[in-house]
Amino acid sequence: MFDFISKKLSSLFDGLRDATIQQSTLDTVMNQVGDALLESDVPYAVVTAFKDELKKRLSNAPRDKRLKPIEQIMKVVYDTMVAFMGGAQQYTMRIEYPASIMVVGLQGSGKTTTIGKLAHLYTHEAAKRGRKRSILCASVDFYRPAAIDQLEIVAKQAGAQFYRAQATEPIAATREIISYAKQKGAQLLLLDTAGRMHIDTEMIQEVKEIAAIAKPRHTLLVLDAMTGQQSLAVAQAFDAAVGFEAAVLTKMDSDTRGGAAFAFRYALKKPIAYIATGEKMDALAPFHADRAVSRMLGQGDLQTLAEHADIVIRKDEQERAVKAMASGSFTLDDFADQMDMVSRLGSFSNLAKMMPGMGSSVSEAQLEQGERELKRFRAIINSMTPKERIIPAILDNSRMNRVARGAGVSKQEIGILLERFKQAQQYAKLLKKSGFFKGLFK
Ligand code: GDP
Ligand code: MG
Repeated sequence: MFDFISKKLSSLFDGLRDATIQQSTLDTVMNQVGDALLESDVPYAVVTAFKDELKKRLSNAPRDKRLKPIEQIMKVVYDTMVAFMGGAQQYTMRIEYPASIMVVGLQGSGKTTTIGKLAHLYTHEAAKRGRKRSILCASVDFYRPAAIDQLEIVAKQAGAQFYRAQATEPIAATREIISYAKQKGAQLLLLDTAGRMHIDTEMIQEVKEIAAIAKPRHTLLVLDAMTGQQSLAVAQAFDAAVGFEAAVLTKMDSDTRGGAAFAFRYALKKPIAYIATGEKMDALAPFHADRAVSRMLGQGDLQTLAEHADIVIRKDEQERAVKAMASGSFTLDDFADQMDMVSRLGSFSNLAKMMPGMGSSVSEAQLEQGERELKRFRAIINSMTPKERIIPAILDNSRMNRVARGAGVSKQEIGILLERFKQAQQYAKLLKKSGFFKGLFK
């Protein structure tokens, strides 16, 4: 659950552990959290709204001396995410018995399974308080073969009652079920409905008619978390047609990117009541935004990764590298030092993530290429004399030949290194001009 988004976010914070916090760091956090959300299938508009809120909170938060700067940033990100997902307060359905819950959603979203899980959950909650609930499960799904048989099996597994309507058409069956539930004095009726592969007018019309007859106290929308952004459109369509109280997000055990869970509250202005994490009857739990966010931020992994980076690159080395860049006149030696740091860290991709603004704009293939280049560059620089490293302009044809032989590369490859080096120098100058380094050494 939330593995994908957690991987994205933890690599970001990992890279900022010892950063001195200033405006550029905040911008980096904002942009990279935004990128992580986009990649997790959160709609663009929702990401934009989230970033606005995050920006507000990041700039307004007074400095808390008990926390390291990065810890404080993480806390603001965490708090903002929790608030965005509905707050730490769990949503509870206020069920006054006798009651009815109608479950709606697309075909295959997990409605029937969810009914069984709800029956199981409510039975156990009542048992904890020494009570016994009479729960009745019934279905008006006549489209999918054996859909009603499936509910019968599920109801049995959950220890709930089951009723099969005589009618074979949804509207008549709904009437029959309602009167049966009344007659039997069922405390809770769980009504399963049909879904289609996608929203269509016929389906919407039918569910409206069923709702008009059943007048359920509660309507729950079942959403398959794996369908990502599309599930938000489904939710909106159902909301417009019959309205619903809260959502159940199913298949959270699958490799969903987590985007639907994150965006749901903001997009629909409705709570997520439960999340389902498997096919078994006990795989349904109330949704807690704070726990979901903790998982998204993957704080466990973060810690170990951050420590690793910290040991491998000593702080003074980092400072030296930054100072060299800040001076705007760093040499090929400094360049080589930086490359050493990179290779000791293990991979170029890790460093890319540590460099503000770089992590998300570099592709995996580019990173691999970067790593190969790095080894070659190191070999080339090793073959140069100290003077050549400081003033590469003195590299004439004969010097180039010597270095190429020494490093086992072509002269063209030396050319590439010098070009990269020039770009890095220009980049450093640009950063210096923009005031990027100001405050880094506080
Ligand atoms: P319905 O068409 O909306 O009634 O969907 P079903 O309840 O029949 O579920 C469709 C499929 O998804 C079934 O194979 C279920 O076992 C499976 N399923 C439902 N909920 C979950 C869940 O939370 N996790 C997993 N892994 N599978 C689920
Ligand atoms: Mg079903």
